[in-house]
Amino acid sequence: MRRRALLSGAAAASLGAASLGFAGRAHGQANPATLIRGAYLLTMDDALGDLPSGDILIEDGRIAAIGASLSREGATVIDGTGMVAMPGFVDTHWHMWNSLLRGLVGGTPQTGYFPTIQKFGPHYTPDDTYLATRLALAEAVTAGVTTVHNWAHNVRSPQDADASLRAMKDGGVRGRFGYGSAQGTPPDRLQDLADLARVKADLARQAQPLLSLGAALRGPQMSSLETSRGEFAAVRQLGLPISVHMTGNAEVSARFKVIQTLAQDGFLGPDIQIIHAVHATPQDIEALAQSRTHVSVSPNAEAAGMGVPPVNPMRAAGVLVSLSIDNTALPASVDPFALMRQLITLLQARDGLGSPFGPRQALRMATLDGARDLGLPEVAGSLTQGKRADLILVRLRDLNLSAAGQGHVERLLMAAQPANVDTVFVDGRLLKRGGKLVDVDVDELVSRARAAAAKLVSRAG
Ligand SMILES: [Zn+2]
Repeated sequence: MRRRALLSGAAAASLGAASLGFAGRAHGQANPATLIRGAYLLTMDDALGDLPSGDILIEDGRIAAIGASLSREGATVIDGTGMVAMPGFVDTHWHMWNSLLRGLVGGTPQTGYFPTIQKFGPHYTPDDTYLATRLALAEAVTAGVTTVHNWAHNVRSPQDADASLRAMKDGGVRGRFGYGSAQGTPPDRLQDLADLARVKADLARQAQPLLSLGAALRGPQMSSLETSRGEFAAVRQLGLPISVHMTGNAEVSARFKVIQTLAQDGFLGPDIQIIHAVHATPQDIEALAQSRTHVSVSPNAEAAGMGVPPVNPMRAAGVLVSLSIDNTALPASVDPFALMRQLITLLQARDGLGSPFGPRQALRMATLDGARDLGLPEVAGSLTQGKRADLILVRLRDLNLSAAGQGHVERLLMAAQPANVDTVFVDGRLLKRGGKLVDVDVDELVSRARAAAAKLVSRAG
């Protein structure tokens, strides 16, 4: 019925969100007070630590109280017995528009990630961008990801930017829209900075509490030194945070010395996020630490031919390092548990056992440090009274987590998978319950995404 309503209405032209579910609810009724009872509380709040059995009261979209034996008249009660309650995961770099390209990236230089996005990117319509982003966000919620950094490096028009933002608003997840350039933009052409300013003004007017804005820049190695300088300076004038990739290619990295170049130009700082930093030198790490520049690592993408980032030296130097999904065009599903596990094992494979990076550090990177990276330390990333209620419940009694010995919860979580995520709240709104997305028509979303991907492939030849 939903499908018929969609196809016959004006909504078909603009891919109205209501038919995919959730959007109407997002702007309609707020959830009443909710009381989660008797869960293992993995708060990620240093002052609170873990509470083996505790309650959380969610009210007006925030964590109103945490403790033992809480009560609140009229609250909806969720039994947390046998579950871990923890902050939702925070992704800090994700090319959501790539979600229509799943399965198209191969394992050779000709069929790899970059040739694929360069081939298909120019054929995207704003509706493709909208659908890809909705698909990514639905997968995010499924996996317990409650904040994203939508690193949009194929904004082909103002309509594309608006489609991305509409998808983020309709998807109900907290996040930053990283406004990037279109695939195929010549190296000497600046990205559309006037439209970036327009989006900044639009967002300020609309007062979208879950959304923020940043710039996703190509940097010197993907544009030119002059272009990069122009873009960095213009975005800083706008007062927006900047994210930029550092190539995973060792030879290119040595040639461009991105971090040293940015340092010399005064373009490092707590408003700057460097992605991957796989080939960061000791001198680079020192520059990052001194300038309080952030780093986002994506173990899945990095394992695909880039290398392993120097996570321990960066963390030891005091660099804020967070975790990111990167994309799902590469063979990947959205699975923060797998990413944490992968990072731990990659570091062990390179450095041997005894690495100071274990489950607790991985969890922190995937929650609180991600929130700090995106400028949300007071808002998300831990179960802390007064923060917004972005939190998840993970079932410990599922087959893959039900070890007889149990043991440390953070170690158990390294064996978890998105299917174990029972419940997801973002800003106090229930987006997943009993293992199922709330108010998202998954069949409809998947059907539309498949149809759009098929058309995209045929347009791209
Ligand atoms: Zn990336």
